[in-house]
Amino acid sequence: MRAVNGGRRPIGVIGTGYVGLVTAAGFAHLGSDVYCIDIDADKIARLHRGEMPIYEPGLAEMVAANRDRLHFSTDIADALERAGLLFVAVGTPPTYSGDADLSAVYAVVNAIPAHPSRSEEQRHALVMKSTVPAGTGASIKRVLAEQRKQDLSYVSCPEFLKEGSAVHDFLAPDRVVIGDDGDWAGDAVVELYAPLEAPLVRTDIASAEMVKLASNAFLATKISFINEIANVCEETGADVIEVARGMGLDDRIGHKFLQAGIGYGGSCFPKDVTALKQLAGNSGYHFQLLNAVIEVNELQKRRVIGKLHKHLGSLVGRTICLLGLAFKPNTDDMREASSLVLSARLQADGAKVRVYDPVATDEARHLIRGVHFATDALDAVAGADAVVLVTEWDEFVALDWPEVAARMAGTLVLDGRNALAAEAVAAAGLTYEGIGRRTLTSSR
Ligand code: NAD
Repeated sequence: MRAVNGGRRPIGVIGTGYVGLVTAAGFAHLGSDVYCIDIDADKIARLHRGEMPIYEPGLAEMVAANRDRLHFSTDIADALERAGLLFVAVGTPPTYSGDADLSAVYAVVNAIPAHPSRSEEQRHALVMKSTVPAGTGASIKRVLAEQRKQDLSYVSCPEFLKEGSAVHDFLAPDRVVIGDDGDWAGDAVVELYAPLEAPLVRTDIASAEMVKLASNAFLATKISFINEIANVCEETGADVIEVARGMGLDDRIGHKFLQAGIGYGGSCFPKDVTALKQLAGNSGYHFQLLNAVIEVNELQKRRVIGKLHKHLGSLVGRTICLLGLAFKPNTDDMREASSLVLSARLQADGAKVRVYDPVATDEARHLIRGVHFATDALDAVAGADAVVLVTEWDEFVALDWPEVAARMAGTLVLDGRNALAAEAVAAAGLTYEGIGRRTLTSSR
């Protein structure tokens, strides 16, 4: 990695969520002064107090180490006053139709005051980190022109970080994609990312926007594909772990995203797949494959319920334990988590639900009602007729299975992520059932 920013203009980051805060801390780490803006005054107050509004490994340390270069405020004019490049990292959640909700993006565009053309030292650019449909940059540029803000340049710089390893992903990205009009702003973003020495894709704005949506849709497709293979494995006696191992060695396929489970969740895949499907539909193209990807994912979450019925019969009055609530390990993010669907469906079927997550419990309390929030994993499994692994946190993988068996009322362990050592579970006298794998029952 090359040396840090010397004497460059400060940058602004609008939105201090998972992407914005990591981006801000990352650029501060590389030597920039960063003005971080959020409309959530409580979030800004917490950041002022040195508290982290989100859980992300390594982020608190990076923010603390660069505290003197990070400035937090709710005042966008403050960032505009000082910064040249304004990174936009606000949410783009789905609307009811499945299109991306761009209201927060346009709120930022509208909040920027019109101003007479600036000198070279004072010029500004919006750099879009938020995931937006292809064509959004062109629309924003039209709006800026209508609002007499043509002197504001526009760059698309989609973000590819993964929650749970976001700090690492900022510092060592697979690629940096920059879509621009070939003006000073694109050059400035290239320069800012240069110390990371990552492969650079410099292209037009619409193509950069499409790289992001197409990448997430492809990864989601890979997950739904292996999940369907897993479902066929269950009917044919094959083991999806062996199948994926054999497939992944083909370097045209690769091992990543070939882990069968109870479906993808999170703040990105579900909404980005739907947004791409809608984008295609809005422009007259029926993206048939993505319909299937979405449907398979929804059904996959629900197959867990079918498996529980297969083993336990009626779930009325049964106690089911969900281990893990976050949509994946190492994050507190509950957006579109499989646990939301499962806890609701189990209660609808009359089950009593006990849940535990190492970090997402506080967040989950706002979203999941009627369940017992346990204090730890062993407390969660107490009296359970079945335990379902929903999120493969390390501490669940390393559980003391004889102790779990002693505390459970029943014997079923349903591994929704194919992450547990099946033999260790069965050796404890429990019945192990994964996704796309043969059921393993204790021989004791
Ligand atoms: P987030 O919800 O964690 O953060 C968004 C932040 O923007 C919030 O703090 C919110 O208060 C703030 N905000 C909303 N409107 C604002 C406004 N008008 N002015 C200032 N602040 C405002 O969202 P996130 O997960 O960081 O995602 C942000 C964008 O990045 C989305 O488009 C998402 O699709 C994309 N993205 C997310 C990830 C991820 O893993 N989370 C990865 C890549 C890309």
